[in-house]
Amino acid sequence: MAILPILTVPNPILKEISKPVEAVTDEIRKLMDDMLDTMYAAPGIGLAAVQVGVPINVIVMDLAREGEPPAPKYFVNPEILEIVDDLKPYDEGCLSVPDIYDTVERPERVKITYLDYNGKSVTEWAEGLYAVCIQHEMDHLKGIVFIDYLSRLKRARAVKKVVKFEKFKAAG
Ligand code: ZN
Repeated sequence: MAILPILTVPNPILKEISKPVEAVTDEIRKLMDDMLDTMYAAPGIGLAAVQVGVPINVIVMDLAREGEPPAPKYFVNPEILEIVDDLKPYDEGCLSVPDIYDTVERPERVKITYLDYNGKSVTEWAEGLYAVCIQHEMDHLKGIVFIDYLSRLKRARAVKKVVKFEKFKAAG
């Protein structure tokens, strides 16, 4: 397992449309293992493959609270089948937009289908934080980052802050 570098805005790769995965192979599982390590180290609760520079339809997530045992979830080729239209606001953050948080409104419940770590097809409803997180991560697969939902001014400010922060980090 390895910790991979996470791309941050305004890296153009984050705007790429991710491609479907043909099969859940050992290579894909290795990527998911590395992504999970990377996410835990960040730390974060969700990560899409494009965020580590691999634009394919793969997501990892762990919504376990502090003190709870790890509960990793893996999503290959996730699709939204149904949406419950009631919108709910949530203060979102993103490993590709470090230290920026802002409110995004999303459908409260979504029915999703995906292949799991073993390539088994799973269909289930996501609600609460799970619904927020899966929609946020699936946006990444479409080249959308949560700050794209904010006003142009807020978005520009966020990108500027991240660029400054990354420069500072690179300078050590
Ligand atoms: Zn994100």
